[in-house]
Amino acid sequence: MAIVGGGASGTLLAVQLLRQSAVSRIPLRIWLIDEHGRHGRGQAYATYHPWHLLNATAGRMSALPGEPQHLVAWASASASVPGQVTGETFLPRGSYGRYLLETLAAAQREARPTARLLRITSAVNAIRPRSRLRGARLLTSYGPLDADVIVLATGNAPAALPFDAPETAAVITDPWGPGALDQVTSGSGASHVVILGTGLTMADVALSISSARPGTTVHAISRHGLLPHVHPGDAQGPARSFWLPAISESAGPVRLTDLLWQIRQEISARPDSWHRVLEGLRPHVPALWSRMPDNDKRAFLRHIARYWEVHRHLMPPATAARLSAMRQTGQLIVHRGQVLAVHQRAGRLAVIIDNASDRTELDSDWLINAGGGTTDITVAASPLLRDLFSRGLARPDALRLGIDTDAAGTVLGADGRPSPFLHALGPPLRGLWYETTAIPEIRNQAAALAVQITKTNATRRYPRSAA
Ligand SMILES: Cc1cc2nc3c(=O)[nH]c(=O)nc-3n(C[C@H](O)[C@H](O)[C@H](O)COP(=O)(O)OP(=O)(O)OC[C@H]3O[C@@H](n4cnc5c(N)ncnc54)[C@H](O)[C@@H]3O)c2cc1C
Repeated sequence: MAIVGGGASGTLLAVQLLRQSAVSRIPLRIWLIDEHGRHGRGQAYATYHPWHLLNATAGRMSALPGEPQHLVAWASASASVPGQVTGETFLPRGSYGRYLLETLAAAQREARPTARLLRITSAVNAIRPRSRLRGARLLTSYGPLDADVIVLATGNAPAALPFDAPETAAVITDPWGPGALDQVTSGSGASHVVILGTGLTMADVALSISSARPGTTVHAISRHGLLPHVHPGDAQGPARSFWLPAISESAGPVRLTDLLWQIRQEISARPDSWHRVLEGLRPHVPALWSRMPDNDKRAFLRHIARYWEVHRHLMPPATAARLSAMRQTGQLIVHRGQVLAVHQRAGRLAVIIDNASDRTELDSDWLINAGGGTTDITVAASPLLRDLFSRGLARPDALRLGIDTDAAGTVLGADGRPSPFLHALGPPLRGLWYETTAIPEIRNQAAALAVQITKTNATRRYPRSAA
């Protein structure tokens, strides 16, 4: 079995497969392949900055469905996590990466000798079906690899700027790329940085810069100029059972206007706790999204999504306090507007912003993309996805947010038929579920996919197996 992408999604799937194999005693060989060697950590948890925190409390970030205290227990026992940890703690993301790696190592020990996992650092550039045999061949910079089952756990589409910018090291398209911020944070003296976006990534990038180079002025720009709301903590306990008419009608289409009206009613009945309403709504989003007509989904993406994102992705209180201090001292300036153009001038960048009433030109040393970009997978696809699309082995979903799959995560080919060997999980399933990028969704998908893959392959290879 080959898992393409060694981030949280690929790792959680590997953990579940190893656990399945340990119980069922069905032999398994797993390749966990990551182009940057960020196994266990991926894009989100490869940071070692102590101020880069999880945006959810430890009580909600367990790697294992049905074991909500797993992370808290690990962190409490780990010498690498300082201080007392409770379900209310916002842990550093670096600690979370370590947790995923140690959870993977424990699953590997449990599954030995029945199952083995090999980590490979290499890009998978293409996948070719094998003509007479089951499965497919992966073409990687490590060499060709043959697998019966391949899972795409490739994360979000590569970051891209939504406008043409000069090709220079001063323009950083992906701040989470390995070492991407090193040059910005390693220099000394005052500098000016423009960050595109005002969400959680902007917050982390601004904090990295201000802790390394306190004299720097950071300008953050987005169309709405909205920062994420502050996480209220989970002290009130889990959200009370949540009900909307749209949820109870379990079949039939959900119209966006009806749903918005119902949510507004619910919020106006509890105006002090809108976040509790959204938190209660979140587990229902995949089912509601899958019942929404495509035109309503498009309207949501055009008009509502950005407001959903700032209310849904909340900032840890410590992060909010640090940003607020930066704003008070003028280290961080938030702009509402759109970047029209970027020019290189005398070794610096001129960033031109349109904010409806006038135009501003910011003179900057660096431009960092922290959001923005296209959501169209056909434009932003990686070389591997482009290859799969062009060969008809996969196709974009109807909204072009990711890869089209059936409800179990089996990839659909250009003809709409389920692939006999390709599956996907996590962010590439955005078109299918919309909420599919955070750990609570990914851990459930990983567990379900591991059961499905083990069952299907056990009955193919070991027809009398009960797995
Ligand atoms: C900065 C940040 C902070 C976040 N914080 C939280 C949080 O606090 N809580 C939460 O629940 N969620 C958080 N998230 C959401 C996050 O998306 C998920 O939690 C999770 O990390 C997604 O993991 P993934 O493995 O799907 O993607 P990724 O982490 O992107 O991993 C995919 C990996 O696949 C590799 N890859 C891609 N294509 C290929 C190829 N062709 N060949 C080989 N390798 C390939 C990539 O290099 C990458 O390492 C955060 C996201 C980000 C970006």
